[in-house]
Amino acid sequence: MLGIISDIHGNLEALDATFAAGAKLGVDEWICLGDVVGYGANPNECVQRVALLCSVVLFGNHDEAAIGGMDLSWFNPWAAEAAQWTIKALTPESWEFLSDRPYRHETSSATFVHGTPIEPEAWNYILDERDARAQATGFMTPLCFVGHSHVPGIFPVDPAQGNDEPRSIINVGSVGQPRDGDPRACMVVVTETEEGAASVRFVRVAYDVGTAQRKIVEAGLPEVLARRLAVGG
Ligand code: ZN
Repeated sequence: MLGIISDIHGNLEALDATFAAGAKLGVDEWICLGDVVGYGANPNECVQRVALLCSVVLFGNHDEAAIGGMDLSWFNPWAAEAAQWTIKALTPESWEFLSDRPYRHETSSATFVHGTPIEPEAWNYILDERDARAQATGFMTPLCFVGHSHVPGIFPVDPAQGNDEPRSIINVGSVGQPRDGDPRACMVVVTETEEGAASVRFVRVAYDVGTAQRKIVEAGLPEVLARRLAVGG
């Protein structure tokens, strides 16, 4: 069983609870779609965990910011403040790991990116079906898994050229800072049906939000980043 996670954002409590819940369900391979750091108080611990447990870890925009690779004026004030904090907090080992991440991963059945399959390095968003349809030429596989918006969802897209198989872009939501009104960590698990098709399931995981919030406040990060964890918004 494949577990897919994204947007951990330095939230170790959410990440550990998600790995534990996945292991219980039978996940034996993990893929992470990026944004391991930024916002939360445990960037290095989260990098260590995903480096150890995930077979693939992609590059996200907050990972790019954390290694000093991005102009922070693109971020809102709290995100920029958190990025500055994360730049200072990152160990050389974490910096090394994050700076070596790919933008894209592909198997015979699925494509994996942080934001969009077309130009993943541009950090564009897929927020609705129209955005998703515009990405149809960016991948040839039946499924494309994305993160970045922190809102889980399934968007149908046109079949690939020369094929009539239906396809979808699936947003796996966020482990460490969900924004769909449900504060529980979000992940996707994929199993193969007897017919060889992929069965995709969203799983929500309750975790110790209070500890993650306390660490954010104690680290001197903006308090709004702690408050929003309680409401998933
Ligand atoms: Zn993110």
